[in-house]
Amino acid sequence: MAHAVDVLTSERPVQRQGRIKTTGYAAHSSTSSLQPFSFERRKPRPQDVQIDILYCGVCHSDLHTARNEWTNTTYPVVPGHEIIGRVVKTGAQVRRFKEGDLAAVGCMVDSDRTCASCQAGLEQFCESVPTFTYNSEDKHLGGMTYGGYSKTIVVDEAFVLRPPANLDLAGAAPLLCAGITTYSPLRRWKVQKGQKVGIVGLGGLGHMGVKLANAFGAHVALFTTSAHKTADAKRLGAHEVVVSKDPVQMEKHLNSFDFILDTVSAQHDINSYLNLLKRDGTLVLVGAPEKPLPLAASSIILPRRQLAGSLIGGLAETQEMLDFCGQHGITADIEIIPIQKINEAYERMLRSDVKYRFVIDMASLK
Ligand code: NAP
Ligand code: ZN
Repeated sequence: MAHAVDVLTSERPVQRQGRIKTTGYAAHSSTSSLQPFSFERRKPRPQDVQIDILYCGVCHSDLHTARNEWTNTTYPVVPGHEIIGRVVKTGAQVRRFKEGDLAAVGCMVDSDRTCASCQAGLEQFCESVPTFTYNSEDKHLGGMTYGGYSKTIVVDEAFVLRPPANLDLAGAAPLLCAGITTYSPLRRWKVQKGQKVGIVGLGGLGHMGVKLANAFGAHVALFTTSAHKTADAKRLGAHEVVVSKDPVQMEKHLNSFDFILDTVSAQHDINSYLNLLKRDGTLVLVGAPEKPLPLAASSIILPRRQLAGSLIGGLAETQEMLDFCGQHGITADIEIIPIQKINEAYERMLRSDVKYRFVIDMASLK
């Protein structure tokens, strides 16, 4: 650990010259609302792309971080990691993007690119810790990285993705986190036709999970605490809907699922979902509640069930997911908000009142 810290501090060139002034919305403490905030980005280096942000999705991770629910937040924090924008400047070495191109940035803006995870295309598990889009150490300017609730962002070309040209831009923004976070485990556990797949929670991640599992050909059951979401879930691609508060409905599905993806952001009973898996079935947690979730050993011992987790996806897989969504015409179902409504949007997200992702129209940020 000491070694890692030494490397970070000795290799960190703090760029003092040539900064770009910009504005965004930041939280200054775990209890304060998000407010307008002025800050600086680095000027593009030869390998950098500067992107003026058009749309940024609102992920529940933004809320967990703004309120320090994972106890790792450095303030002020500018959340936002579902970014779609237009390239306004490129450094001399940039090859894949030119001024005027559409560009996308997800949850990471850098990694060491040399460790075994990076070499395997799993930059999210970079052994030197990836630089996340916000609330990560900024190795260029010092301080912390600031995310997409802002006018402009400067990112190394290697971490900039290309959104498919045929997709609605605002609806494509949530693919950069909600899309890849559900796509990656569905792919890794080879979800396919002939399988019975459950998605738990119909929020930002969950509704993408329903769309993608359906596109992969699975029989999809959506578990919800909100009975009124049933018709929407079916429209989005669920073949059946289970109201998880109803034990009779839950009991009908005991020992029957090949795979379940749990996207719930708050405390809930994972054992009741594990019990729905058949032998060797897998439940993957992507939701990240702030407190530990109790696990009964019997839920996985019998009959040899598996409990796993998954974190976003690597760069190549994120581009693969974007291309897949382009080919299948898949975007998020969104409600566009001006940035001034972000605090209200967080309250609504906590009440599960999202259909099914808020996306900030950055033109509202003056
Ligand atoms: P979201 O839009 O708020 O959706 C969460 C859904 O969970 C809600 O819509 C609700 O669905 C259900 N839910 C909420 N409270 C519940 C409770 N007390 N009991 C049971 N169900 C409840 O959030 P999101 O943006 O999809 O994010 C979901 C979680 O994934 C968050 O914890 C987020 O931090 C995490 N996340 C993880 C990764 C990763 O890489 N692993 C990436 C992004 C986000 P119903 O109304 O249908 O029940
Ligand atoms: Zn996210």
